[in-house]
Amino acid sequence: MTDLLVTNGRVVTQDADRRVIDDGAVAVTGDEIVAVGPADELAADFDADRLVDAEGGAIIPGLVNPHTHVSDILLRGSFAEDRGLLDWLYNVKRPGTLAMTVDDQALAATLYCLEAIRAGVTTFVENDTEVVWDDWSTIEAKLAVYERSGIRSVYGAGMVDRGADPAFQELVTDIQARDANVDHPPLELFVEETDDVVAEVESLIETHHEPEGRQSVWPAPVVVPTTTTRCFREAYALAEEHDVMTTAHVAEAEAEERRDISSIEYLRNVGYLGERALLGHCVQIDERDVRILARTGTSVAHNYMANMRLATGFAPVVAMHDAGVTVGLGTDNAILNDTVNPLSDARAMAGGHKGYHRDPSVVPAQRAFDMLTIEAAEAIGRADDLGSLEAGKQADIAVVDLNHPHLTPCSDPVFTLVHAAQGFEVDTVVCAGEIVMEDREIQSFDERVDDVLARASRASADLVERTGFE
Ligand SMILES: [Zn+2]
Repeated sequence: MTDLLVTNGRVVTQDADRRVIDDGAVAVTGDEIVAVGPADELAADFDADRLVDAEGGAIIPGLVNPHTHVSDILLRGSFAEDRGLLDWLYNVKRPGTLAMTVDDQALAATLYCLEAIRAGVTTFVENDTEVVWDDWSTIEAKLAVYERSGIRSVYGAGMVDRGADPAFQELVTDIQARDANVDHPPLELFVEETDDVVAEVESLIETHHEPEGRQSVWPAPVVVPTTTTRCFREAYALAEEHDVMTTAHVAEAEAEERRDISSIEYLRNVGYLGERALLGHCVQIDERDVRILARTGTSVAHNYMANMRLATGFAPVVAMHDAGVTVGLGTDNAILNDTVNPLSDARAMAGGHKGYHRDPSVVPAQRAFDMLTIEAAEAIGRADDLGSLEAGKQADIAVVDLNHPHLTPCSDPVFTLVHAAQGFEVDTVVCAGEIVMEDREIQSFDERVDDVLARASRASADLVERTGFE
């Protein structure tokens, strides 16, 4: 007896041999995959309570998004494109997210999860970079939504324990002068004493991290310039102690790189690099830095679309792969990409690297797809139970409808998924053995999708006005 059989599809296993099983099936008991193989064999071996008929579609591992932000999704479309990282951060994201109410935050989380589920995402790593730690109501409202969503979340608990130096303070003041009508929160608003922020994050891990469940909490120093050396060390120690990972934004824009040694060297020297560290971005780095990442076993979240949009350049992924660095593809901020849909980024990312290197052989479709599945799972320290369809792994599965003109013919589903899929052809999503979406109908939230969209549009218009955006 088994609980669920997802059958009649082309199973893209993402196992060690990257097998694709045409006319395949995946059998699930409880939250675990118990068998993967030909559909007729599994039909004979397993008497399932429920059947999901993939109707010839691709049966793929649920996608893993190793770097994203949630709250700013309500600010979509509310700013001009012509902004670099600091202009966008200090004139748009910070003022906008700080003006959000707890209800706005819960609504943003709901909208985010709807989009993620529709895109086949079953695990996402949120980097919450604007945390005011004396009040957990925002965090708890978001975590409650993630719990209801039915998919897995990692909450990267933002840590800031160093204020801006006078030169940076002055730079931000100059940048903020562009948007004089906006209500800019003071720079020091998020700065906590090191011991205090470490204690808050540890307490959040102890109360909300579920080692066997769908919800995780990681310590997440925000960026190098606002984190002390001791905080980086304490964050890594917390990750070790609680058997989680830690993540930080590193070397995204040139303006952050103001040290005599590179950010990667600095982080190596202070003990932050290693198998428990996942670094977002790593754009402004050189070959020596790549070697350090490889030697320390540090993983990277590559945020191609957001980096292109802010015109920071992008990470040297080909060099990273050549050196053996594990790299997952993240969607980053919902208002920089402007989506949280990994499949829609994969083609642009693969093409961008090919074009940059003038070499069509780099970042092949299989590697690009790995960066959304098994390699992304490895990047977040979960390759043992996520990222591929194999017996013994968690039953996180998406079914992609291939019956569309733009996906026909499909001789190689991996190539089609990366280079032809737009990302919204996902039909059914299973997470931890539970059906979260079936035939495009989201099962996990009670509220109708249209009602959430209407509420989000109204809340966003109100937020934009309150913040003073023009
Ligand atoms: Zn980010």
